[in-house]
Amino acid sequence: MKFVPKKKPIYGESKDSLEAYLAEIKQPKFRAKQILDWLYKKRAFSWDEMTNLPQALREKLSEEFEITPSKRIFDKASADNTEKLLLELGDGSLIETVVIRAPQTGVGQENSRKTICISTQVGCAYGCKFCASGLAGWKRDLSTGEIVSQLIQVCHLEDSTTQRAKEEIASFDNIVVMGMGEPMANYKNLLPALRILNADWGLNFGARRITVSTSGLVPRIIELANEPEQFRLAISLHGATNEVRNQIMPVNKHYPLEELIPAIKKYTEAKSRMVTLEFILIEEINDTLDQSEKLIDIALDLGAHVNLIPYNKVEGLEWKRPSITRQDVFYNALKKAGVSVTIRREKGHDIAAACGQLKLKTEKAQAEAEGAAV
Ligand code: SAH
Ligand code: SF4
Repeated sequence: MKFVPKKKPIYGESKDSLEAYLAEIKQPKFRAKQILDWLYKKRAFSWDEMTNLPQALREKLSEEFEITPSKRIFDKASADNTEKLLLELGDGSLIETVVIRAPQTGVGQENSRKTICISTQVGCAYGCKFCASGLAGWKRDLSTGEIVSQLIQVCHLEDSTTQRAKEEIASFDNIVVMGMGEPMANYKNLLPALRILNADWGLNFGARRITVSTSGLVPRIIELANEPEQFRLAISLHGATNEVRNQIMPVNKHYPLEELIPAIKKYTEAKSRMVTLEFILIEEINDTLDQSEKLIDIALDLGAHVNLIPYNKVEGLEWKRPSITRQDVFYNALKKAGVSVTIRREKGHDIAAACGQLKLKTEKAQAEAEGAAV
């Protein structure tokens, strides 16, 4: 399904496309820079704030472009300082954006490092057996503007609490493309969005602070490897053999490990940077000794970092999170073998921060409320 909004989201425009539009309506080129400054540096909420633009141009822009392509309908903070924004898009679809705060050592005025997790699709078509987004199925791709606007929403939320807005820089430190959806399946809208975030006329946010996570779409991994930017890559591996991956990730039947591993190698070589292998620990499925041994071989061969993520329970699915002891055994095996490894003690567990879960719960509650109302 393709959603065609009444107006184009302004956050989907590049400097070139804005200049082309301005030329069409016989406006000078320098207006593009002024508009972009208002959007990304001064973080204007409305066209009326753009006081150095002629009134007639502001009116024209407001007829042509949408400045608020998503509406914040819900902020929910968890005990561990993870905050989830539920955003409503023009067609009523819901997406999630998560603010993850990690304590900062050497505390200055701001006492936490912020990572923003963004979505790229409404739902997901890839149907991984453990994932809430996969359960709901795919509804549509997000547009470039809808992807960028998630970060702008966060800036608007955070700007009042940081000095960074005054310095005209982003109000957060890292972006991870790990929310709802498979980013590489929406490559055509994702790449322009990442370029807008990265551009000096845009959010001016470093490519090395942006991580794209994929379940393993080999052709797109190679395409991204060939782009000039130094975006970081994370692979949702979750199984160290085809047998285990096939069981929980249908994508592995299209792109099995013998294709995926060389693609990761190519990415690592092209960017001279470690790729991260995400590995959810699911009891008895992939937390066995055999899997840890095979994962060690893969990680050492690729020179990759491994991030272990104890499975976050999804309502309606039978998978289990292993005990802390089992998690530790797996972690220690990797560590002992010399693998660069971390274990994520899940952030935002209490607000269902894993992939698509808040949306699923909200939709269920909405459906129940509607059902009750009839
Ligand atoms: N589609 C992309 C990015 C979104 S998913 C991908 O699969 O990489 C982001 C991460 O959340 C992935 O590593 C995914 O496997 C993980 N994830 C999904 N469901 C989870 C759950 N219930 N518990 C823990 N992690 C989960
Ligand atoms: Fe889609 Fe990623 Fe969830 Fe798999 S883990 S269903 S690819 S969002």
